[in-house]
Amino acid sequence: MTLTRCGIVSLFIILAVSPTPFSQSIIQISPEKKGAHLRRNEISGQRRGVDLYCESWKFTVETNDAGIWSQVPERCVDFVKDYITGQRYLSESEAVTDSALAYAKTVEVSGNGKDAWVFDVDETLLSNVPYYNDHGFGSEIFDEHSFNEWVNLAESPGLPASVRLYKKLQELGFTIFVLTGRSEFQRNVTGNNLLYAGYSNWETLLLRGDSDQGKLASVFKSEKRKELEGEGYIIHGNSGDQWSDLIGFAVGRRSFKLPNPLYVVP
Ligand SMILES: [Mg+2]
Repeated sequence: MTLTRCGIVSLFIILAVSPTPFSQSIIQISPEKKGAHLRRNEISGQRRGVDLYCESWKFTVETNDAGIWSQVPERCVDFVKDYITGQRYLSESEAVTDSALAYAKTVEVSGNGKDAWVFDVDETLLSNVPYYNDHGFGSEIFDEHSFNEWVNLAESPGLPASVRLYKKLQELGFTIFVLTGRSEFQRNVTGNNLLYAGYSNWETLLLRGDSDQGKLASVFKSEKRKELEGEGYIIHGNSGDQWSDLIGFAVGRRSFKLPNPLYVVP
């Protein structure tokens, strides 16, 4: 049978518009082999499905789209454990420090001591991963009593990326303020822990006083930063793992958000 030119064109059109097994994808990747690999692919596909879901959940946490949440979703606990105890957390934190340092080097430090950088404490300067390792990696409701017992040990390690940033900022001439939602009664253990973790020579350690209890972290921290600005400091950079460290007012010229899929503080 001879196909006419019209017939060839019709066949091409039919093939072009016919649905294919891969028509759900916008970007076409080579089809996977079938047969013996099918069962293995199903299992790994389920794993990829969970990872994809949890990656997406983590994205909403880091962008603050998730808002306030109380526990890591049950299906993502292993994902969070693997993330926070693995290389990716360290790598992403280092990437944040790289960005912060690239910016810091562009700042013309005046030399009058008024060029400031603000750091949060928990999951910013210090890591509480050893605590969360014993408390379900964010799957448990926050227990202030047991966490304060952990704080009293003053054994939280420094987050390596933040140790690097902190020391480099000091070399560049920035004045360092440590601003934490911890309370005044934890001043000594917090200071001791910071020293233990490799930090020193901060200008002031700012904690919640009696009049600050009950305030949202975003309000308390904004008020403290405003006071610093009132004292003539220019807050060039602000580093924290929570959006409440970075939003509000007197936010500083640049903010640097560290990853934290373990918990949220409003
Ligand atoms: Mg924090």
